[in-house]
Amino acid sequence: MGMIRLKNVSKFYYSKGIIASGISRINLDLDAGEFVVITGESGSGKSTLLNVISGLDTYEEGEMYIEGKETSHYTASDFEEYRQKYISCIFQSFNLISSYTVYQNVALAMQIDGCSQEEIRQRVPDLIEKVGLSEYRNRKVSKLSGGQKQRVAIARALAKDTKILVADEPTGNLDSESAEGIVKLLADIAADKLVIVVTHNYEQFKSNATRVIKMYDGKIVEDTGAEGARVETASAAPAPVTVPRAERAKAQSEDGSAKHAKGHGIKYGTQLLLGVRNTFNLPAKFLLLLLVFLFVVSSVSAQYVTVKKQKDTVSETGWNSYFSHYDPKRIVVEKNDRTAFTRADYEALENAPHVAKLVREDMIYDSGVFIENEQFSFYGYMMSITDLEEEPTIGSLPQTEDEVLLLGYDDGWTFGDTPEALIGQTYSFTMEDGVERKIKVSGIVLKPYDENSDYGYGNNSEAYFPEAMINEMRKGMYATGSTTTMLINGTEETCYPGRGGLMTNENVPEGYILLPTSYDPMFKSGYAAGSDVKLTVKALHYESDLTLTIMGTYGDKTFEKKTGLEKISEHYGEIYINPTDYRRLYERGNFQVSVFVDDTKNMDGMKDMLQRGGYHTLVLKDHIYNFMSEELVTIIQLPMSVIVCLAVFFIAYFVVRLILKSRGVYFATVRMLGMGKQPARRIMRVELVLVCSIAYAMFLLFIYLTRIGVLQSQKLLDYLTYLTARDYFALGAILLFMAVLISGRFMRTIFKSSAMGAFREEA
Ligand code: ADP
Ligand code: MG
Repeated sequence: MGMIRLKNVSKFYYSKGIIASGISRINLDLDAGEFVVITGESGSGKSTLLNVISGLDTYEEGEMYIEGKETSHYTASDFEEYRQKYISCIFQSFNLISSYTVYQNVALAMQIDGCSQEEIRQRVPDLIEKVGLSEYRNRKVSKLSGGQKQRVAIARALAKDTKILVADEPTGNLDSESAEGIVKLLADIAADKLVIVVTHNYEQFKSNATRVIKMYDGKIVEDTGAEGARVETASAAPAPVTVPRAERAKAQSEDGSAKHAKGHGIKYGTQLLLGVRNTFNLPAKFLLLLLVFLFVVSSVSAQYVTVKKQKDTVSETGWNSYFSHYDPKRIVVEKNDRTAFTRADYEALENAPHVAKLVREDMIYDSGVFIENEQFSFYGYMMSITDLEEEPTIGSLPQTEDEVLLLGYDDGWTFGDTPEALIGQTYSFTMEDGVERKIKVSGIVLKPYDENSDYGYGNNSEAYFPEAMINEMRKGMYATGSTTTMLINGTEETCYPGRGGLMTNENVPEGYILLPTSYDPMFKSGYAAGSDVKLTVKALHYESDLTLTIMGTYGDKTFEKKTGLEKISEHYGEIYINPTDYRRLYERGNFQVSVFVDDTKNMDGMKDMLQRGGYHTLVLKDHIYNFMSEELVTIIQLPMSVIVCLAVFFIAYFVVRLILKSRGVYFATVRMLGMGKQPARRIMRVELVLVCSIAYAMFLLFIYLTRIGVLQSQKLLDYLTYLTARDYFALGAILLFMAVLISGRFMRTIFKSSAMGAFREEA
């Protein structure tokens, strides 16, 4: 049984509707120890026959047996396996990786075979020596002569150590002296292998070949043993070929079952190594690829930031009808146990990380106040002097309970006269309870208008009141913001604090309540005086109640005497209690503060921290009415960005394909050496992922340089503003994914054709 047997094998080529016959009905038996030379004119089918035998091309008719096994049913991967196991190739055009050194080229064949690093280190120098190239070991193949290249190709073919060695025009590109050396080398190898050589130059091989096959028009026209060459060859150089034989014997003795000293395909570590080597061994190509990926990184990240920025802008722009003092950095905070804030609570919050500002008097923070007289009126947010951060520009801080400090903008003072003229003047304002109070301006803070303030928030006029006044106001807020009910003689009715409702009056002693005469008919006796009234307050944060005795009722005539007030016409229906009792009902401390985060990026972290600390939080920017919702950004902006990224992907893909055109030859070569598709894909992926990572690292470096102030770019500053660690991570992942996709697509185009086809196309 021969090693290779062809029975009526035919191969046709179809191209543009025309069928050409490559070889037709070939019958052939080939075995180890033969040095077969196939000759014939150009176009006679020599290459086709060789390619069919070496499994690079399929055949259409007949049957080819490999060690007795039929192959007509073989799939592409079966032939790939066959090539890997049986065939070593030497080509006219050498098919070396020209950017690799001699050593790397020879080692590549063994690496693809899955040989161990140690084995490679031992054998490669021997093989290089055998082809006489020891002194060129570390030279790049691109710098060798034609004869030297062919020797490298032979060393590489031997490195694979297979039973069959095929060579297509191995001397075609060589001068006669180099050719002679190559022929001798091949003859040596044929001592225990099947060596098949295709040549149109029979003369060069005549004296060494054991068999000559002559072809014409796709058929074998002559098949003879060459005269006496066999004996000559065998005796001339048996020594060199003993190296692989001895090698095999050694492997067999170490591992009894092993037929060949080879592993199971290329190792993962080697794939990684080759990927890294391919990345850097052509510096110009690396730089071009890097440029492409810098383009990818910058355009994809620009899209990412655009979406992120729009979302942030949208989520921070809007209004909230309840919290009119809107600021995207504001979080309203209550205690989970619904108790009032203590000094310790304030301190803990003020000193917490990322807290830019704490507004203690949150209840009044959202109410505005009008301060006015005949010539002047000022409108601003009500603030507590304890929350003032600035020093007065003019005048001083409030010293007494009826003084106020105003805050406005020096280039936009719109409140009449000069700021100086207002100091010391008395003005009036009305609080929630409807009572008008007098106030004196003690000082003014003038601030420059902050153009860069977040969307203009923060540029508000403010009026800072002393703490006692604030307590009073808060009391009013709680009173108006709560539901107060009055239980009188078994009947419950709601009463409203403030004008026309529940009011304070110094003339009413503690523990008593003064009602209008309209309540008298509720009692059988016709007199309310002496009975009890239970007041119950249900506020947002607390409930309180108080039982008071009705001290009497007032009518039109007794009103002034009993209340000390004038004009009952302005006070119809009012109920009076002592201010101390009023305080008992409504002045229960502060239950709500506002925390301002230093940066909206820290919002989520702050929220978590507060919640863990026992606080209930309301992030204002999550509860606003927007012109455009975040979802709308997602619906409109996101697809646009995805389209841009897709365009970037295809541009990058085509440029990468142009730059890596020569990789086609590389992969055709490694596949002819027996590398499978998967490892080839991985090697490509390593290269593009590596370049992409370097590009991304450079991008991060640019951002870092912007951050420390070395680079100045508004665009890069945007990245700093809108991207968090999580975003950088996501962005990196998107880019790596794109690199993997590009490499996958690139490999698909390379693998579209069969190994030989790819080679024909690219070479
Ligand atoms: P040789 O190597 O002896 O020069 P080939 O084996 O290359 O001859 O070619 C044999 C025949 O097959 C020729 O007629 C050639 O035109 C044809 N042929 C070879 N390769 C192809 C191909 N890829 N497509 C179409 N015809 C081909
Ligand atoms: Mg040919």
